[in-house]
Amino acid sequence: TRTPFIAGNWKMNLDHLQAIAFVQKLAWNLSDAKHDFADAEVAVFPPFTDLRSVQTLVSADDLPVKYGAQDLSANDSGAYTGEVSGAFLAKLDCAYVVIGHSERRTMHAETDEVVGAKVQAAHRHGLVPVLCVGETAEDLEQHGASAVPVAQLRGALEGVDVSKGLVVAYEPVWAIGSGQAATPEQAQQVAAALRAVLAEIAGAELAASTRILYGGSVKAANIAAFMREPDVDGALVGGASLDLDEFSSIVRFKK
Ligand code: 13P
Repeated sequence: TRTPFIAGNWKMNLDHLQAIAFVQKLAWNLSDAKHDFADAEVAVFPPFTDLRSVQTLVSADDLPVKYGAQDLSANDSGAYTGEVSGAFLAKLDCAYVVIGHSERRTMHAETDEVVGAKVQAAHRHGLVPVLCVGETAEDLEQHGASAVPVAQLRGALEGVDVSKGLVVAYEPVWAIGSGQAATPEQAQQVAAALRAVLAEIAGAELAASTRILYGGSVKAANIAAFMREPDVDGALVGGASLDLDEFSSIVRFKK
């Protein structure tokens, strides 16, 4: 009953004009019989400056592509120079927001506490967080694959009402942008461990209905193998989400 979810994290790529062209072509690539959205829900995560343009395009043409931001502020308004409120994202009809990406954890010193506050901010504004967790190569060597992602999930979900909506993305840091994806078995093992934590925190029913994505060097050639794993419900795609045909093929992994 978990609809597969394919999400493109554009990171700091594509300006608002490029975004309009890309989303328009993506929707065309998936139109008519070319994609069944019951096989996979599709979302893109452009830079903040693109979101208004994407909203205008998607609403004017009633496109089935969802979108969201790559981050948000833990605060709703006020003296926070450079920050973007979840209230503003909700006004732009964002469905989702990526939170706790490893690039923000490392380059912007986001702790589990900050990440958790952002999850709650998303919920205050009706946005579904795509909560990212993942271990570094060093973590993997010292603690195995699951320990750090499990601790990050527990840390971020303290005091969070999971019934308000959640997508979890398992992204091993060593697999991001490296061309060296985790094996489907590794992804499954960690996804199962994360689902067990969700069951403990939020109950079996919510755990069973929460989607857990894999991210890290996903491409058209390896997506199907990940999707065959029982606890992997989709992918958070970085580099390959910027290539229209590659991303379209990833979305259409069943065909
Ligand atoms: P790549 O797909 O480029 O490895 O990036 C993954 C990622 O960080 C998505 O959030």
